[in-house]
Amino acid sequence: MSGRIAVVGLGPGDPRYLTPEAAEALSAADTLYGYGPYLDRVPLRNGQSRHPSDNREEGARAAAALRHAAQGANVVVVSGGDPGVFAMAAAICERIESGPEAWRALEVVFVPGITAMLAVAAKIGAPLGHDFCVLSLSDNLKPWELIERRLDAAAGAGFAIALYNPISRARPWQLGQALERLRRHLPGATPVVFGRAVGRPDESISITTLAEADAARADMATLIIVGTRETRVVARPGRSPLVYTPRAAAEVSA
Ligand code: SAH
Repeated sequence: MSGRIAVVGLGPGDPRYLTPEAAEALSAADTLYGYGPYLDRVPLRNGQSRHPSDNREEGARAAAALRHAAQGANVVVVSGGDPGVFAMAAAICERIESGPEAWRALEVVFVPGITAMLAVAAKIGAPLGHDFCVLSLSDNLKPWELIERRLDAAAGAGFAIALYNPISRARPWQLGQALERLRRHLPGATPVVFGRAVGRPDESISITTLAEADAARADMATLIIVGTRETRVVARPGRSPLVYTPRAAAEVSA
């Protein structure tokens, strides 16, 4: 079977964040699948067919892409950021595992990209400079109680926390409740970073504290980093502050 499928990370938005490997995979493809706005970021090339789909149709999109590859096409499935972080790579693996035997014979490659939390962190310093963990606040694929348990564990163990999918029209209260939950474990002065649309023309970054953090500041394009008890904000004359978590931790901090 000659079909091939590449699951490609486009990075957070700035074309300079697209890796050379990703650019190569995109131009070699004859068929592209992905969420519409992500596909719009890929320069048009003659002869490529494009199959945009809605954000919430990851499973169906993965199956359609695999069917196409099984017919012999050179298929690319795009994700924003990195495809392995709350994105298409796992959706493709799930479909290969549960789909027709023939799909297991396909060549499948995963092309990493710069994920949102790394792009946000790089804008302000090194908030993820010590141990950290990553959660999606979406309760579409897991129960809210599990998210709360993980927030408790992460904050209790002294991890910095990157929060993806903080809020959407269908999930309006989750971020506020998550911040409330974290306030049980962490001091009000803990630094919190809201990074919105990083790498895109409407990018904005703001630094606040856990006590002041307001869920209404976030939208679907926002990535939030909650620091630890050790995370520092370094004021600088005429420049934006540096937010960083020191490389060393002295004791169990929560
Ligand atoms: N695979 C993507 C994440 C998909 S989940 C990645 O690796 O970045 C979608 C969530 O990612 C959004 O709700 C937001 O929390 C975050 N995100 C994606 N792009 C972003 C950007 N440019 N700036 C800030 N956050 C972003």
